[in-house]
Amino acid sequence: MTQKIAVLPGDGIGPEIVEQAVRVLTALDLPLELAEAPVGGAAFDAQEHPLPPSTLSLAQSSHAVLFGAVGDWKYDQLPREFRPEQAILGLRKAMGLFANLRPAILYPELANASSLKPEIVAGLDIMIIRELTGDIYFGTPRGVRNAPDGSFAGEREGYDTMRYAESEVRRIARVGFETAMKRSRKLCSVDKANVLETSQFWRDIVIEVGKEFPQVELSHMYVDNAAMQLVKAPRQFDVIVTGNIFGDILSDEAAMLTGSIGMLPSASLNDSGQGLYEPSHGSAPDIAGKGVANPLATILSAAMLLRYSLNLPAQADRIEAAVKAVLAEGLRTADIHEPGTTRVGTTQMGDAVLNALSRS
Ligand code: NAD
Repeated sequence: MTQKIAVLPGDGIGPEIVEQAVRVLTALDLPLELAEAPVGGAAFDAQEHPLPPSTLSLAQSSHAVLFGAVGDWKYDQLPREFRPEQAILGLRKAMGLFANLRPAILYPELANASSLKPEIVAGLDIMIIRELTGDIYFGTPRGVRNAPDGSFAGEREGYDTMRYAESEVRRIARVGFETAMKRSRKLCSVDKANVLETSQFWRDIVIEVGKEFPQVELSHMYVDNAAMQLVKAPRQFDVIVTGNIFGDILSDEAAMLTGSIGMLPSASLNDSGQGLYEPSHGSAPDIAGKGVANPLATILSAAMLLRYSLNLPAQADRIEAAVKAVLAEGLRTADIHEPGTTRVGTTQMGDAVLNALSRS
């Protein structure tokens, strides 16, 4: 059966890097139908909206979305609802993408890119699963008001609400356990149960869901300790599951352990396995159009797409092995270049991955 993929290149380096990922997907010779549509600033320019209805319906009717990046300084003055970033929020909401999977892998060849000592990070391979649609980022009530009570009564105050419904915790916990089952069967749930009611509730539900997965070794860690442990002994982690705000911060911290933002893919999934796949970095307007952007995070996002939405793990393995082979050959884009390696541009990097694929 032909599977449909929506290709949304977006802004800045988005089109250049997505082009390389599309070449890789096409080279696998799978029954895929790829359909492209504008998103972000490019869509605003063409159709006066960052997420035009035709782009949204293409995404919703596809098995998966391959997304580049959106944003450019030239759109900063637009009203919020027309800014490019609204396209991602709109897609997440409309497609119910509640689970964000962000691997942080340190390839042995890039160990020097990390700010940590190689003996601490070499071989790092963590999967952070962040809940994406709930928590204090979306909880109501929120706003600015005159404080009704407490020591600051009468003064203006800003306030937000942290809340998680039981079903929201259950479904993200399940993604955590299922992912752990596919890896080393270790899951660490991160919360702040010593202080927050929402976190104690989160922990209780995660423990309950864990009873369905007796093979998985479940541990719990407070978020402040997790932040410390990630820089002290990051290899103790395999799969981490956490809420929206803690995951936002920890996944960026874990990404930085690898030192190379141009290498990190991500997936955002819904209940039915539909997903949006994109590099963890932004649209890099500073290097757009120069042909120097690293396409590997996007190519690795395409591998995640095959693994998680199309259920083609062997093809995903092939892409990941091809990327490793290219790094082992010493080819590097500017962002990961170091003395003794060969500097290549975006297209040459794509060529090299295709070459490695053709040998596998
Ligand atoms: P950025 O990730 O775009 O860039 C940060 C730095 O990393 C820049 O120096 C850039 O040149 C470099 N970089 C990023 N990706 C690279 C790649 N593949 N190869 C080589 N170098 C790379 O973050 P920023 O500069 O803070 O944001 C730029 C724009 O991107 C903003 O408009 C922002 O809103 C948007 N943004 C979009 C997304 C998204 O589409 N999901 C995410 C983050 C930021």
